[in-house]
Amino acid sequence: MDEAALRELARKYALQNAVFFGGKANPGAVIGKVMAEIKAESQMSGERLSKVVSMLEEMGLIKKVSLEETEKVNSIPPAVQKVSLSLIDPSLLEKKEKEQRKGLPELVSAVKGKVVTRFPPEPNGYPHLGHAKAAIIDEGYARMYDGKFILRFDDTNPAKERKEYYEAILDGLKWLGINPDKIKNTSDDMGKIYRYAEKLIEDGNAYVCFCKIEEMRKNRSEGVECGCRNAGAEETKENWRLMLTKLAQNEATLRLKTNMQNINTAVRDPTLFRILEGEHPMQGKKYRVWPTYDFSVAIEDHIDGVTHSMRTKEYELRDELYFLLVKLLGLNKPELIEFSRLEMENAPLSKRKINPLIEQKLVSGWDDPRLPTLAGLRRRGFLPEAIKEFVLSMGVAKSEAVAQWEALESANRKILDPAANRYYFVADPVRVEIKNAPDKIVTDSLLHPDKSEAKKYELDGKNLYVYIAGSDAKDLRKDDNVRLMHLFNIKITKIGEKYIEADYAGNDKDAKKLHWVPANSPRAILHVFGPVFQNDEFNRNSLMVKEGLVEPYASNIQEGERVQFERMGFAILEDKKSMKFNFIHK
Ligand SMILES: [Zn+2]
Repeated sequence: MDEAALRELARKYALQNAVFFGGKANPGAVIGKVMAEIKAESQMSGERLSKVVSMLEEMGLIKKVSLEETEKVNSIPPAVQKVSLSLIDPSLLEKKEKEQRKGLPELVSAVKGKVVTRFPPEPNGYPHLGHAKAAIIDEGYARMYDGKFILRFDDTNPAKERKEYYEAILDGLKWLGINPDKIKNTSDDMGKIYRYAEKLIEDGNAYVCFCKIEEMRKNRSEGVECGCRNAGAEETKENWRLMLTKLAQNEATLRLKTNMQNINTAVRDPTLFRILEGEHPMQGKKYRVWPTYDFSVAIEDHIDGVTHSMRTKEYELRDELYFLLVKLLGLNKPELIEFSRLEMENAPLSKRKINPLIEQKLVSGWDDPRLPTLAGLRRRGFLPEAIKEFVLSMGVAKSEAVAQWEALESANRKILDPAANRYYFVADPVRVEIKNAPDKIVTDSLLHPDKSEAKKYELDGKNLYVYIAGSDAKDLRKDDNVRLMHLFNIKITKIGEKYIEADYAGNDKDAKKLHWVPANSPRAILHVFGPVFQNDEFNRNSLMVKEGLVEPYASNIQEGERVQFERMGFAILEDKKSMKFNFIHK
């Protein structure tokens, strides 16, 4: 793109922005539009990303030209702007609805009303933010195309799965506001899945392997075929029957016959079935031979009519296997879409890291507010809408990025700030005795700046005392003049151990302000949380318990209500009886 073309582009967007916004274009918006178009163009023409990047290095020029054109456009009358724009392209005069779709980009070959997606969690643990991401994207796409969304429990490993986890996943999704159109279990389809295995055996595409796991692993990495592979269809049928009836765990597996020299090791005679004795939470002892995820997913997607099958990026190498099974078994071929797995900064999502914390009682359980489990986030005070917003803001990019807690907190804050009532909480309270105050004082402050409801306290000037936070008290010196918010000024006369004496000092609103609570304030406990991991180790200081007083009006707070403690941040009342709050974030 040369400078003249760039100038033309900048002029077009400056005109459009000016027409939409009262004759004055915003230079920032114009630069953004120009950049976006350059990026989109280079993508369409198939230019490599490195070229785009070098284009962007010409940013100096893009910025300069855009600013110049914006300035020119802003100097001409609105009527002329409009005519000029219509001469370039009349359609530019129309404001496009939803100019930028938030989050989810369009799907390849999606037909409105025909899209079917599924979320296939294994019920082997409590759902966490990673599950939320997949479920939100899967459901989001189904809704975007008026399609169907299926929750499918991928439950083919009886050793790891428990009823409790099915329930926890259902609960978590319900809390997120995700409503599947259909809920099913892979284990419901075992009969069908066995029939597909038999088809592979009959066609000579599968064999029973008796090799030990280590041997199998070694052969796979070296590209060596084992002797078991030579059995004919009849012999394999008999061996399969033995797997189903007699053989013990680890004695045999059913493997797909592919090419042991395939560059992609995931496709070197992969395991399709293994013997897993143990009681299945749904099927009991009905089956003892269970399919691997790789095998069942292709079949289940087919049975469920899935059109767009989404999974995290680490499955990318297994796409080839998926499509091979589709071909061998004559299954539907969905679009396979991969997105990056969610990683949270300083918070483990894997059971491998969370389980020990629970077993060693370092955290209170799966719903500990420090954990990125849905139950934990819920106790912590995060809103499901904020989690959705957070997930969609990351989109379905494949590139790995560690998500920052600040991003989730900011989404939550945006919802809480306009709604949460405000209260005073005073930690490590210090008593302040005030002498010579007026007889009767009425204080009045709003519950929330946008609401009319006020908090009123009537104080008796005789024997008047209030409480301030310990952290504020330690900064006070004799003769300081400070203002108690919404009350009056005081002059410090004496600083004692755990108490302060002061004189009433009139009204000077410019003095340093302190927050305070009245003498009859109830006790409250605030749990404040830090990162659960630091440098990959459990952070022993991740829970701080602050004791203090909360203003009397706080007795109106409902259990589960989220409030804002002035000058501290947001908190959720977890237990009304003990007035125990969990701190959400600043
Ligand atoms: Zn073998």
